[in-house]
Amino acid sequence: MALSGHGNFGSYLHRIGKRVTPACPDCGADEDTPEHAIFICPTVADMRQSLRQALQNIDSSLSQVEWSATTFAAVMFKSVRHSKIVLQHLHDIMQRRFTAESTVAASNSTISLR
Ligand SMILES: [Zn+2]
Repeated sequence: MALSGHGNFGSYLHRIGKRVTPACPDCGADEDTPEHAIFICPTVADMRQSLRQALQNIDSSLSQVEWSATTFAAVMFKSVRHSKIVLQHLHDIMQRRFTAESTVAASNSTISLR
């Protein structure tokens, strides 16, 4: 789901009319996409760093990997251990995203009630 362009992302929610702006709820970037959330958003830089560390701990050949959707998928299919680490990372990002999204929804409904 995270890589398909759907899910809890601003650009998708905006497209289906559930959000007035496609911007990232975390950093305010113009367009929130899965790529943005996973590879670019500065608010999850710490999570990307710990993912990189966790993967390097089991596979030192990954220290020079340039992250993109392609390398991400390739790493995930290397072994069950690799995929568990990557999936945990995606899960953590989605978790954070849903928390951010419900905060936005809560503040939007507060505004509309006034
Ligand atoms: Zn962002």
